[in-house]
Amino acid sequence: MSKHHSLLQSFGALLVLDADSRRIQAISSNVAVMLGVSAPKEGRFPTLSSVLGKRLSQRVRYELQGQPRLSGPLTFKCPARPQRFQLHAYRAGAHVIVEIEPLSTIGKQRLLGTVNERLMRLAEATHQEELLEYLVMAVQELTGHDRVSVCHFDSDWHGLIVAESLATGSVKIGSEVPPGRLPALLGQRFPAKDFPAALRRAYERHPVRLIAPGEHLLPEGVAVDVSDCFLRAPAPERQRYLQRLGVRGALSVAMQGDTGLWGLLYCHSATAYPVTPSVRDAVRTLVQMATQRLLLLRARQEARYLQRVQDSLVFSTNHRLAPQSPYQLFTEHADTWKTLFRANGVALWVNGSVYQSGNTPKPEAVSQLVTRVEKAHIHRGPWCTREAANEPLTASLCMAEQSGVLAIPLPTSPVQRGWLLFFRPEQVETLYWAMQPASAVPPASLSSPSAAWCEEVTGKSEAWQRVERLAAMDLGEDLTLAISAYEISTLNRHLERERKALADANQRLKQLAHFDPLTQVWNRYRIEQAIDAELVAAKRYGAAFALLLFDVDHFKQINDTLGHSVGDEVLVSLARLVESSLRGCDHLGRWGGEEFVVLATHSNMKAAVGLAERLRSLVATLDVTGLRQPMTVSIGVAVWQLGDSCKTLMARADTAMYKAKRHGRNRVEIATDVTP
Ligand code: GH3
Ligand code: MG
Ligand code: MG
Repeated sequence: MSKHHSLLQSFGALLVLDADSRRIQAISSNVAVMLGVSAPKEGRFPTLSSVLGKRLSQRVRYELQGQPRLSGPLTFKCPARPQRFQLHAYRAGAHVIVEIEPLSTIGKQRLLGTVNERLMRLAEATHQEELLEYLVMAVQELTGHDRVSVCHFDSDWHGLIVAESLATGSVKIGSEVPPGRLPALLGQRFPAKDFPAALRRAYERHPVRLIAPGEHLLPEGVAVDVSDCFLRAPAPERQRYLQRLGVRGALSVAMQGDTGLWGLLYCHSATAYPVTPSVRDAVRTLVQMATQRLLLLRARQEARYLQRVQDSLVFSTNHRLAPQSPYQLFTEHADTWKTLFRANGVALWVNGSVYQSGNTPKPEAVSQLVTRVEKAHIHRGPWCTREAANEPLTASLCMAEQSGVLAIPLPTSPVQRGWLLFFRPEQVETLYWAMQPASAVPPASLSSPSAAWCEEVTGKSEAWQRVERLAAMDLGEDLTLAISAYEISTLNRHLERERKALADANQRLKQLAHFDPLTQVWNRYRIEQAIDAELVAAKRYGAAFALLLFDVDHFKQINDTLGHSVGDEVLVSLARLVESSLRGCDHLGRWGGEEFVVLATHSNMKAAVGLAERLRSLVATLDVTGLRQPMTVSIGVAVWQLGDSCKTLMARADTAMYKAKRHGRNRVEIATDVTP
């Protein structure tokens, strides 16, 4: 498979050659035993062809000419040994390094079949736990290591053993481990300091590491740059580390997640334990496959979770025509949100108003928290803590029962601010550490590999998962939209009310502008407009029309005898009576005082006089209680003539009306004079 694998072979032998791949310059101590050649004597090394045979050494030399490395591993059989070997060679500075390791005796076909069967089973796993269980079991069966475990990293790079398979059943934490066996580590943790960044980087470059503590690769004093060489015995401190764990042989494979190292699969044995390249490749394939599946399962699970969070709001807003107020939204969804975010309290803060559900700090504390977070919070993402009492921002707040806070900004508008806050209680946890963390009680017996450091963790809530923070942002956006929708609809309702008030006011203004407030007939301004319009039509189409100006006779007497208010009522009744008797195309307007004008469209002199006479007798029928004689009017009639303006026409009607007054009142007079 990948050329990197063959570089990891500390159970193999190492040769250091000159740049021409001719002379051996250094040799690992196990070459003699492994290949059955004689050991170097007094610093004199055998020739390459005496170790590899003439043909193979020529081939290595030939294929390395001008190349940094062989294109792939070469397999060969050593004359002195029945076994087959695998060889890889590459350049390191002025040297050529040759790595040799024995090949397995298991048939390749059988191994392939087994691996395929395992892969199928892995692909069927539907849960993370099931998948990891099966992975450690499959790898343990394949390699035969004493213990195969999966260590998952949390966001602080602490490792937690989440799955494990032991060759001979489990050994409980703290109990005596029989010699030659390894204790169970399931559920135990490894502190972040055990996985320094350099080590993690090494896993990113080369996902497989195989180590056998105590092996020396090269004799001391040989200066060869082995930094790119994977034939590495662990550093002394790493050796001590593994010793403390009781581990003498280890194969580990990186589980590369989408955002970095998800975890490691460890195969440990209490004795030095070689793993052949094909088995190693098979393990790597299984781990890669399982990691892919794991990420897929997690992505699916996260997608389902995100969907559920989104549904919690989108569903209800879609099914309602009227947007809900923040308070309505909150009361409807608070319980669902608490469940989804595994919180025991939730609060919604909108422009100073606090809505709360479940276990939350007091409203004042929530408001203070919001003020502080707003000040400190510069990015748009959520703010969270799992130890409020130790967080500078929250330490001095009165939040007795809460140690976890997740706060999501709701940027509804520049003036409108909002926050959704989740609260989690303290979680008292007992953690077991396989290696010593920063703060923990050391085990009674440090020598025992099964001893674990025990730590009581208080003051912290359960951590806010990445997917929960993502979901919280989603929810925040949804909620922001919902609140904005509500605000817009409220604003619209206000605007609608204002618009209606304005329309009413306009209507009133129009009424005031066009109608006489007492009699509700057209006022002088409006009737003049109508006369002007009629003048235009008459000029264009020659459509004749007439004006009837009438004035109540002796109206002063009505006022004087019956009072001004009766006079008003008489004017109202008169106007109503006259208006109701007119055709739809004729108009009545109050000219002033007790004078009215009738605009009679499509009327010649005869029709106008007929109308005037009809009106005159109609007025006489008006019953005014208290009046000794019936009420009468004097009417002046003027018919449109070419060249008339509103003014001349009115002046003629006025003259005619006065003529009627002069001639005894209660009569109709026709304007005869043609005013120039
Ligand atoms: P005549 O026209 O027949 O010559 O006699 P008259 O009594 O009607 O005389 P004049 O036109 O001089 O008087 C009109 C009176 O109408 C004077 C005024 O106080 C009264 N008047 C004008 N407008 C109103 C009004 O809106 N309400 C009341 N009650 N009286 C009004
Ligand atoms: Mg008058
Ligand atoms: Mg009068």
